[in-house]
Amino acid sequence: MSLTASPAVRRLADWDDDRLERLADEHGTPLYVTDLDRVRANFARFRAAFEFAHVMYAAKANTGRAVVRTLYDAGADVECAAAGELHRALAAGVPAEDLQYTAVNPPAADLDYAIELWEDTPELTVTAGAEMTLDRLASRGFDGRLALRVNPGIGTGHHEKVATGKDAKFGLPYDEVERVANEARERFDLVGLHAHVGSGVLGDDLDDHRRALSRVADLAARVGSLEFVDLGGGFGVPYRPDEDPLDLEAAAGMVREVTADVDATVALEPGRYLVADAGVLLARVNTVKPTAETRVVGVDAGLTDLVRPAMFGSYHHVRNVSGADREPVPSSVGGPLCTSADVFCTDRPIPRPEAGDLLAVGNVGAYGINLASQFHSQPRPAEVAIEGDDERVTRRRETFEDLTRLENEAPGVE
Ligand SMILES: *Cc1c(COP(=O)(O)O)cnc(C)c1O
Repeated sequence: MSLTASPAVRRLADWDDDRLERLADEHGTPLYVTDLDRVRANFARFRAAFEFAHVMYAAKANTGRAVVRTLYDAGADVECAAAGELHRALAAGVPAEDLQYTAVNPPAADLDYAIELWEDTPELTVTAGAEMTLDRLASRGFDGRLALRVNPGIGTGHHEKVATGKDAKFGLPYDEVERVANEARERFDLVGLHAHVGSGVLGDDLDDHRRALSRVADLAARVGSLEFVDLGGGFGVPYRPDEDPLDLEAAAGMVREVTADVDATVALEPGRYLVADAGVLLARVNTVKPTAETRVVGVDAGLTDLVRPAMFGSYHHVRNVSGADREPVPSSVGGPLCTSADVFCTDRPIPRPEAGDLLAVGNVGAYGINLASQFHSQPRPAEVAIEGDDERVTRRRETFEDLTRLENEAPGVE
């Protein structure tokens, strides 16, 4: 089977249960497992559908070195929305000329870092979404490749908090872009327009997405003389077992159609689509409490390891790796933190979990480990990358010493 023909969706049940059990035994839990072959297959499928576009990986979805490097080696450039992401992409071995920097309310130190990079690498493109950001770039001597982020006034996606297209925080107000673009040409090398309008877009949202993107494309046609129009990311993946995957061909047809009159390269910045189903989070059941309403199942992973259910109310499928054939019982799976938000699911039928079982939480390759925190003094989890038969720890588990290290290293502390 060729990479481009890989199935558009990989369900949690498609993972090798025996291998997950063994990895959990060897490396402990909670544990992120990232399948780099799947990352590569997702990219190949995306690349084939959008052969006409310049594809950059939006690194904030998963900035792990192995993931960034795998995608870069497969042919993706890398979009960084913070200086720290530039730093990590460079550390992963991505040359600066293949990076793009998107500045959102950029702290001064971030701008300084990006400009220093640009001084050595004039190929670096900087994207800005506020006139003041342009002034701040100019005052640092920047006169290089610039893209303007546009606010199309329409947002899409799986949750209000990611519908960036209608949030005034992001991008220049639509009606001001032409003026700002004309003025910007006097100070910078204006190469593109940019918009990232939402996230988690599946079939149902494609029409909204089309409306938002056509507004951006119309504007690009009016502004003219651009090297590219960058339509951002937002391509969704199915989180529920019965949800259909995004029809990539339809999405590609839509992008092609809305950009038909644009005389510039189309650029895209998928994040989630490339990595989400390449990751699972393994957790061990430590406590089972049958109650009248539900089976309360306590595991060693919590919202500090995976915050999407608590933050967005996101559905993540949970599989009982140790007993997938057991009778399902309504279960509420939660972690070790003292907050009611620390649950992965409530009253969900799961093959009867018992203490000691290994559970897998699916589709955590995007916005999973990157949002892990030390809240509640939880060391962040380890990550193992798998690639064929090869397995390697790509991020060591944090220790209690890591929890006190920065305080110990504070100035004046003996
Ligand atoms: C987050 C982000 C993306 C990627 O979004 P996905 O929904 O993960 O595809 C792309 N571009 C920018 C500027 C972003 O901030």
